[in-house]
Amino acid sequence: MKNKKLLVALIAVVAAIVVAVVLYFTLGKNAEKPTLIMATNATFPPYEYYEGEEIVGIDVEIAKAVANKMGYELQVDDMEFESIIPAVQTGKADFGFAGMTVTEDRALLVDFTNTYATGVQVIIVKEGSPITCSDDLFVEGKNYTIGVQLSTTGDLYSTWDLEDEGLATVSRFASGMDAVMALNSGKVDCVIIDNEPAKAYIASNPGLKILETEYVTEDYAAAIKKGNTELLDAFNAALQELIDDGTVGKIIDKYIPAE
Ligand code: GLN
Repeated sequence: MKNKKLLVALIAVVAAIVVAVVLYFTLGKNAEKPTLIMATNATFPPYEYYEGEEIVGIDVEIAKAVANKMGYELQVDDMEFESIIPAVQTGKADFGFAGMTVTEDRALLVDFTNTYATGVQVIIVKEGSPITCSDDLFVEGKNYTIGVQLSTTGDLYSTWDLEDEGLATVSRFASGMDAVMALNSGKVDCVIIDNEPAKAYIASNPGLKILETEYVTEDYAAAIKKGNTELLDAFNAALQELIDDGTVGKIIDKYIPAE
């Protein structure tokens, strides 16, 4: 009887030690989990935007899943869109993830991962606007003012195609929403921006509409420092697994319900 009690006590002590050791290692390991820093511009719903104090959206959730698969914690750093590529180049951030379109010029500055989504540059106008399709912007003598978000592809394309040709004036804003406010108050005649944020902006601004003609279709990818093939390969491998197992699709569907 006495031996039995001793045995039970012994087992309890051993069990407690095992639990303590396991806890020590799991918690200790978590605390040491390395961090991947994502640079983004959180004015771009539904890809990245603030919900209260927190940055949420498609890119944030995909990045969390990718980081997790790679054994990292994710840290999201919000900055101007134009600062994202420099942050990646200087190593302030490990990757840029911001509904960023793959372009030849950007690919000279950073390496792009595989693409995970497509975007379309669309044109937002006021109801009753004389601009009814993208061709209207190219009519000589009209010289419309086009609102864009600084340094985005909407800015780059309208600058090259229209402003540099003397056909229109481009007005650049810190965020797409600022450009939309300028459209509301009549400071610009239209806004060229990615389709999903466009939908989110007009939902909160009655009297605006998205034209049916699409300006340009493009691919989104994450930007990684040139030459960091280790990170690029690991990111691509994790992203591909998450595309293949349906995680990426589920995240996109959650934020962009089928019409
Ligand atoms: N897709 C556009 C670009 O890459 C806009 C991205 C953004 O504003 N976050 O330029």
